[in-house]
Amino acid sequence: MHEILSRLGLDRDPRVTPPAQTAQDGVVLSLNPATGEPLAGVKLDTADSYEKTIARATGSFKRWRTVPAPKRGEVVRRIGEAYREHLEDLGSLVALEMGKIKAEGIGEVQETIDVADFAVGLSRQLHGITMPSERPMHSMREHWLPLGPIGVITAFNFPNAVWGWNAMLGAVCGDVCVWKPSLITPLTAIATNNIAQRVASEMGHEGVFELVIGTDDEVGERMIADRRLPLISATGSCRMGRHVGAAVAGRLGKCLLELGGNNAVIIEPDADLDLALKSTVFGSVGTCGQRCTSSRRLIIHESIADDFCERLAKAYATVRIGDPLDEGTLVGPIINENSARAFEDAIAAAKQQGGEVIAGGARVDPAKLPERLRKGAYVQPTIVRAPAGNQLAIAQEETFAPILYVFTYKTLDEAIGMHNSVDQGLSSAIFTGSARSAERFLNPSGAGSDCGLAYVNLGTSGAEIGGAFGGEKDTGGGRESGSDAWKVYMRRQTCTVNFGDEFALAQGIRFE
Ligand code: NAD
Repeated sequence: MHEILSRLGLDRDPRVTPPAQTAQDGVVLSLNPATGEPLAGVKLDTADSYEKTIARATGSFKRWRTVPAPKRGEVVRRIGEAYREHLEDLGSLVALEMGKIKAEGIGEVQETIDVADFAVGLSRQLHGITMPSERPMHSMREHWLPLGPIGVITAFNFPNAVWGWNAMLGAVCGDVCVWKPSLITPLTAIATNNIAQRVASEMGHEGVFELVIGTDDEVGERMIADRRLPLISATGSCRMGRHVGAAVAGRLGKCLLELGGNNAVIIEPDADLDLALKSTVFGSVGTCGQRCTSSRRLIIHESIADDFCERLAKAYATVRIGDPLDEGTLVGPIINENSARAFEDAIAAAKQQGGEVIAGGARVDPAKLPERLRKGAYVQPTIVRAPAGNQLAIAQEETFAPILYVFTYKTLDEAIGMHNSVDQGLSSAIFTGSARSAERFLNPSGAGSDCGLAYVNLGTSGAEIGGAFGGEKDTGGGRESGSDAWKVYMRRQTCTVNFGDEFALAQGIRFE
């Protein structure tokens, strides 16, 4: 078994089985997307084991919620420290199992550490407010209480950090986290959860972090229908979110949805074009275009489009594609064959709709890859230029692959209209030298960018944890991570106390 797995204790975990070439019943194979080789098998949860986990989580919640919030913060602080100790290995495991380059894998785990730090501070601040009562000798306040065991469903592309955003905040809020990871990245989930679970147990708090690894039919569906989980936080495609959202709403549960994006960058003629170039390349090719915040559309002023596209295509030609664990690689494989086919289909559709491929456009020829990488799916980061006035129907969708569609505009109003024309509303960016254009993009009336995240002179991907993260429209409306995102993991109670002797009703009602 791979040495990284062994250093993280995965070879001693009862769920993990040695790698086999074919999956057996009740086992999912975790594959290295760079080589196509199996890393290990992972035993799947069943309806029975799911039931036991939820029963345990319900019991653990009753104990955990009574621990004072700053003490819960102390547990999270130690968990953050444990992730610091395992940063290199855990980041490498993310790269090994998901295929992003090692620097990004480490960056992802760093994000969990940052959220842990943020949550520690928060553990002393989960504050409510007071308000004056209209009745004499009465007081009123709002306070925030632990919510329950919460269900966290995560996507393959951020196999560590998305859980971190939810679990670290949920833990200081007094919730127990039941995590259902993607079946594409179960090893990262086991290693990540084991560290948190071990630290919490050593501090006397068993069962705060639970993991269920199972199919959507057997485990996923049970989880979203489960009334014992008052909140389901689900990250993934819009297709998944529509289904999960409806199921959770049907039982009147709370849902936090973090779904697909179709993020655009607007570039004005007076922008710093060197800055715009670097940011656009990172935003569109980074993580092989498999970030929810990847730049998928470039909306550029017609006067600078030709030159900028030429520079962009040259930059694309220098991007080193290869093993994500190799120093110097900038783009690893796409996650699997299905994604590679979706990439090819989208390019075929774009051409058929009138687009011109100006960089990439195909899979990487396996003959040009080292022998050991030939079973991986590698694609060329691609730029498709749309003819003026043609919005390309395919660009209205999120294809989870490194394809950037380029459109031109004449006026900023036109650019913002094009920008907002898609169904998704996650991340957005403008490069401009004009304060007026920047403010119009962030227009407080709402007439600017319609996304949850809006950037000026930086690209769409790479959010900081201090702000609330999430998107509007078909992206689902959820917010995670910083700011006041913690409130979704708690329930609010409005408390009124009569400290006098009079029977007083609100609105002056007399009942005597
Ligand atoms: P996916 O929708 O295929 O799966 C996401 C998760 O949902 C997985 O754990 C999957 O098992 C689970 N799921 C699917 N059907 C389910 C069901 N019926 N019941 C319960 N769980 C179910 O997404 P993916 O391919 O893993 O990830 C890529 C997608 O995620 C992209 O669309 C990307 O934009 C999005 N994403 C969004 C964010 C964000 O914060 N907005 C972050 C990361 C990824």
